[in-house]
Amino acid sequence: MADLNEIIDDTIKALEDMKRSGVTHVEVSREAMEELGKVPRRNANVSPLTPAGEELTTTTPREGTRPTTDGAVAELALIEARAKACVKCGELSRCRHSVVFGVGSPRAEIMFVGEAPGHDEDMQGEPFVGRAGDLLTKIIAAMGFKREDVYIANVLKCRPPQNRTPLPDEVTNCLPYLLSQIELIKPKIIVALGATAVRSLLDVQIGITKMRGHWYTFRDIPIMPTFHPAYLLRNPPAKKEVWEDMKAVLEKLGREVPKGR
Ligand code: URA
Repeated sequence: MADLNEIIDDTIKALEDMKRSGVTHVEVSREAMEELGKVPRRNANVSPLTPAGEELTTTTPREGTRPTTDGAVAELALIEARAKACVKCGELSRCRHSVVFGVGSPRAEIMFVGEAPGHDEDMQGEPFVGRAGDLLTKIIAAMGFKREDVYIANVLKCRPPQNRTPLPDEVTNCLPYLLSQIELIKPKIIVALGATAVRSLLDVQIGITKMRGHWYTFRDIPIMPTFHPAYLLRNPPAKKEVWEDMKAVLEKLGREVPKGR
C-alpha cells in the first residue's frame, strides 16, 4: 500500500500539472473540506494545500537569478507544507510538536542557519526563540537588522529528542528542505551557526574553531561559519569572535557597522 508520503507526492504532482496547464482553482466538495478541517494543524502559519517538487522547488529559478518575491513566498509555502507532512525520520516525526520550517524575509540578504529546533522552538513552531534565540536576535539587532529582515532556519526541521546532535541520516533526510530555502531566497550571505550547520552545507570535518572567521562558498554564496549562540551562552568571551565574524559579514554586504559597536 502506498505510504502517506507517496500519496502526498502524487497529489502535489497532480496539482502542479494542473497549475502548469493554467488551472488557477480547484473545486473541493463541502464534505472534503470538512474532512480536511479535522486534520490537526499544529502550526497555523502554513498554507494548507500546497504542492512542491524535487529538491523541492516546483520551478527551478535560472542559475544566479531569484524567483519573484511572490514566487518565492508561494514556493516556500509549498515546501513548508511538504516538510510538515514529512515522516522520513520516524523518531523525530513521532516526537515532534511542530515542524519548525524557518522565518524571515524571502528577500533576505542574510540567512542564518542553525542546527535543529530545541524545546521552545518545537513548542512555538519558530526557530531560535529560546535563550540561544534571544541571543541570536540581539546579534541580528547589533548588526542593524530586525529578525524580519533576515531569514532564520535550521538544518533539521524537527527537534531531536533531548536536543541530541542530529544523526547523519536525519541530516540527509532533511537537508533538501534547507537547500530549497537557500535556492529560493538566494541570500547574499549564509551565516552557519555551529558545527552541524557548517558540516551539513560544506561537507567538511574541520572544527568550527578553525573555520570561523573565514569565508567559504556554498553554491556561489559566501558562507561565514561562526559559533552557535548556545555555545556563546556557555562561553560568553567567545561573543567577541562572533562579533568580528558579523562585522566581516556587514563589510561583505557593503554595510556600515552600526555606531557605538
Ligand atoms: N538551536 C538551533 O540550532 N536552532 C534553534 O532553532 C534553536 C536552538
